[in-house]
Amino acid sequence: MTVLDVVVIGGGQAGLAAGYHLRRRNLSFVVLDAEASPGGSWQHMWDSLHLFSPAEHSSLPGRLMPAQAGETYPDARHVVDYLGDYEKRYDLPVQHGTRVEAVRRDGGGLLVEADTGTWRAAAVISATGTWSRPFLPAAPGRADFAGRQLHTVRYRSPAEFAGQHVVVVGGGNSGAQIAADLALDGRARMTWVTQRPPRLLPDAIDGRALFDVATARRQALEAGLPDTGGVAALGDIVAVPPVRAARDAQLLDAKPMFDRLTTHGVRWPDGSAEDVDAVIWCTGFRPALSHLAPLNLRRERGRIPTEGTRAVHEPRLHLLGYGDWTGPASATLIGVGRPARDAVREIAALRQHGASPPQ
Ligand code: FAD
Repeated sequence: MTVLDVVVIGGGQAGLAAGYHLRRRNLSFVVLDAEASPGGSWQHMWDSLHLFSPAEHSSLPGRLMPAQAGETYPDARHVVDYLGDYEKRYDLPVQHGTRVEAVRRDGGGLLVEADTGTWRAAAVISATGTWSRPFLPAAPGRADFAGRQLHTVRYRSPAEFAGQHVVVVGGGNSGAQIAADLALDGRARMTWVTQRPPRLLPDAIDGRALFDVATARRQALEAGLPDTGGVAALGDIVAVPPVRAARDAQLLDAKPMFDRLTTHGVRWPDGSAEDVDAVIWCTGFRPALSHLAPLNLRRERGRIPTEGTRAVHEPRLHLLGYGDWTGPASATLIGVGRPARDAVREIAALRQHGASPPQ
């Protein structure tokens, strides 16, 4: 069995940012990643997806993302290439094709059991993201619907819906972008439904400005000043160019949620029914944490309480990249560097105070 200072679980951007800081501190580590190749969940995004920030504002620590020729906002393929290059450049020991099944306490350390072997470490950084846990809300009639239902994670392009009536559910970024993708393509008839009226951010606000807003909020809270409300106070949806184009062409008017699904479609609140071929649920994700179940750390609303990135009830475990829950903007490319650095700093301090790799 291999014994290390740290095992990082997940080799997406969060796991790589952790790897960067672990290298700098000369800690022994491995990154175990379920994907066969580099790029984390960016490998699975739909064809037309572009970042909501320019390249230089989508960078991990140490290496600026290069601009993509002809694109202000790079596409997902560009991010995959960047992450693959990042892995190589810093010689990060990423073991692809390795799925971690369980993390257990084992004397002074933690035991990490994967489908390809077992590792023992003084500390674990879990960075498994949310993509592998799509969330589908309860919806009356869902089991009766004879058409196609898919979540964001299975959407690729409008081509496969040509000639169909498609309902897109969800008022977040994924819902707005997939609705815009279908509407601008025009081969499918698209109806967008949201639980609340969608709130588009002002056009001037892209991911770069959002990061500044999140940073200002963190600084205010750290200084004991009143909460600025952060990004949520401004809106939910970044008006990326395709969303703007669809909005300006009056193609992006959302309807309130349907009451229920029927065998062949939906029933609207006014009692009318309509045939539908496919429903795309853009209804979010949950953190992929099942490998941590043996540690029994979940508390209120299924969350693992953390202080910064450290699990309150298991100080040898850090969580990285799942959302604001583990640090402001930590689920973004530009935002994960800081919590990654802090997590590694804490682990290094723990080691200095005697927690060497368990034998
Ligand atoms: P992931 O990229 O999901 O990586 C996690 C890795 O862990 C994966 O490789 C997975 O296979 C692996 N894994 C999971 N479980 C296990 C296990 N048990 N054992 C081993 N490996 C495991 N952020 C931005 O900064 N800019 C944007 O424009 C932007 N747009 C987005 C658009 C969409 C549609 C979505 C969903 C998110 C977007 N984000 C954006 C947010 C965020 O940057 C991405 O979600 C990003 O992929 C999160 O990185 P991660 O490393 O936390 O997780």
